[in-house]
Amino acid sequence: MKEKIDVLLQNAGLKRTRQREWILSLLVEGDVHLTAEQIYSALKAKGQPFGLATVYRTLAALEQSGILSKTEVDGRQSYYYAEGGHRHQLLCTGCGKVILLRECPAEQFLRAVEAEYGFAVTGHSFEIIGLCPDCRKKEEK
Ligand SMILES: [Zn+2]
Ligand SMILES: [Zn+2]
Repeated sequence: MKEKIDVLLQNAGLKRTRQREWILSLLVEGDVHLTAEQIYSALKAKGQPFGLATVYRTLAALEQSGILSKTEVDGRQSYYYAEGGHRHQLLCTGCGKVILLRECPAEQFLRAVEAEYGFAVTGHSFEIIGLCPDCRKKEEK
């Protein structure tokens, strides 16, 4: 894992710092998407003394260099993750929780659209709304 992070930083032309190392190991190792606040809390729980401002600064640098991607949800929360591409969101109408899909479910469908309509697709967006597992449980009661 250390090597993978080294390679990522090297390819991006970034120096290795403790902050970058910790944040990347969190996101790459866990294969998760987290907000800056969640990253801050996770690092704090591991005994790391980085402040929230440092986390934001480090995330911005990692994003600019292309190592991390960011998906903004409702213009209020930004989730960071280690692969490229984009993520779609599941929005819970019960509690407002946001779940990000791991894969884009539209890729194959869009290839078929291009083939059938001779249309060059350059982007897409859609929103999936519903109830998260917790809210479904409440509904059943
Ligand atoms: Zn919910
Ligand atoms: Zn997509």
